[in-house]
Amino acid sequence: MTIEVKNLSELKEAAKLVVDTYSKDRIFLFYGNMGAGKTTFINELCLALGVTEHTSSPTFSIVNEYSIPQGCIYHFDFYRLKDEMEALDMGYEEYFYSGDYCFVEWSEKIPNLIPLNYVKIAIEVSENQHRLITIEKK
Ligand code: ATP
Ligand code: MG
Repeated sequence: MTIEVKNLSELKEAAKLVVDTYSKDRIFLFYGNMGAGKTTFINELCLALGVTEHTSSPTFSIVNEYSIPQGCIYHFDFYRLKDEMEALDMGYEEYFYSGDYCFVEWSEKIPNLIPLNYVKIAIEVSENQHRLITIEKK
């Protein structure tokens, strides 16, 4: 499905829809150019899942962890990863196969470590700055 999002309040609605539609899924990979809105959408998904703490981009930390009523959320940003070995060293498997939510930006950096099943969320910016969010189960 593709959702056209015109502003941040529509983004909030889109996040609720995704959380409800994919309630059984735990691994979500985000695609889109720099500045497309991956982190912004992930923050809305976190809020929709019940995160109450302040959320931020894990660009420097690689992974941020948030607690939610049903467990926790891991938000990854692999942009600054040097190689896949670094992901292995940080124990990415413990996160990916924990059964907790994993929201991943820049999984392009770990092409050989992508799980078999995940939800792919691709974000494109249109000329009028709207976001086209395409969601597809792999
Ligand atoms: P990076 O690849 O650098 O991590 P990103 O895809 O995570 O980038 P964001 O940091 O989420 O991008 O967003 C970049 C900018 O776009 C922010 O200023 C944010 O407020 C704005 N933005 C994101 N999504 C939307 C939206 N749906 N509507 C309007 N503005 C948005
Ligand atoms: Mg980001």
